[in-house]
Amino acid sequence: MHSELPDVPGAVRMPEHRVAISERGSFCFATCSCGWFSPARRSRDLARREADDHLTGGDSAPG
Ligand SMILES: [Zn+2]
Repeated sequence: MHSELPDVPGAVRMPEHRVAISERGSFCFATCSCGWFSPARRSRDLARREADDHLTGGDSAPG
């Protein structure tokens, strides 16, 4: 391994998550490099929020 980053205590080691916001027609949705994607939203802001939720480890909860 080639790593120059210091090991920060308390940091959670996560697989690479690269979220991108895609637009389809008047809908927006977030996609992640890990395969996750959000449902189509009418608000780009909402799609971003869902992406943020995914990045922070928010498990898909009902409701
Ligand atoms: Zn992801």
